[in-house]
Amino acid sequence: MSAHVINGKELVGAYRAEIKEQVEQLVKQGVTPGLAVVIVGDDPASHVYVRNKHRACEEAGIYSEVHKLPEETTEDELLELIRSLNSNASIHGILVQSPLPKHIHEERVVEEIDPEKDVDCFHPVNVGNLMIGKPGPAPCTPAGVIEILKKAGVEIAGKHAVVIGRSNIVGKPMGMLLLRENATVTTCHSRTANLEQLTSQADILIAAIGKPQVIKRQHVKPGAVVIDVGINRLESGKLCGDVDFDDVVEEASVITPVPGVVGPMTITILLRNTLEAAQRAAGVAAAQ
Ligand code: NAD
Repeated sequence: MSAHVINGKELVGAYRAEIKEQVEQLVKQGVTPGLAVVIVGDDPASHVYVRNKHRACEEAGIYSEVHKLPEETTEDELLELIRSLNSNASIHGILVQSPLPKHIHEERVVEEIDPEKDVDCFHPVNVGNLMIGKPGPAPCTPAGVIEILKKAGVEIAGKHAVVIGRSNIVGKPMGMLLLRENATVTTCHSRTANLEQLTSQADILIAAIGKPQVIKRQHVKPGAVVIDVGINRLESGKLCGDVDFDDVVEEASVITPVPGVVGPMTITILLRNTLEAAQRAAGVAAAQ
């Protein structure tokens, strides 16, 4: 048996076209969704991510502005910029690219963002809303994984989902979103004993570890759905996931390759969150 390998271009492309159409509807009503991306310092990978987000906005018809600040920017200067973006009516989403320089407290910055404009869903108010199931933005990567599962026709309700990773950005909210979809959820992490024993019970296995190709065939139940969130660079310079794709592809029923699926879907959810923030600000109901 060989898995159905999800085609990111097709799946993500179709979803971006849907979002673009909704953006056009909103623009016709006189509101152009706007995203401000703030980047501090010269981290080359972060600049690539920011460029990709900016380009995706342009393609979707979303207004986007990038604020590039020098490494020596003070925390007060950054907070001042956030406050001015909070009160700017043409900006509906604010994203501060991490990592920030060490002298800036990331938590402090996140808490300054108006929760209504927090399209990353990192503000404690939005994290709390997610926990208790209130509407609002969902964090981009885990929400993207849910969207991939749904669009690939994977049934989630009643299934045993095992998430490897418990970060605030991916693992923890991933578990919350899967619970919302009525999965039975197990979270594994670096201190989990008998990882293989747990992962091999998963109907849906989600790897968000950040270590190249550590998930092998023996971790995967035959016929499982495997979603690889990891992005790792091998010594050769090639990108790979947390899952050893070639080893697992024969065992799984559905699998996502890296790169090409979870990464682009993450950006797509950022577009969706910006659109929905603009719809809320304009008092327009979001189309589901
Ligand atoms: P993190 O380092 O904050 O968390 C990694 C988690 O993996 C931790 O909770 C840790 O307990 C767990 N872990 C580490 N080693 C383990 C092991 N041997 N066995 C079991 N669990 C183990 O990383 P993160 O921010 O959650 O990101 C995880 C991965 O996802 C990274 O590769 C990151 O680059 C990638 N990522 C991708 C996207 C995307 O858009 N595609 C977005 C965010 C993160």
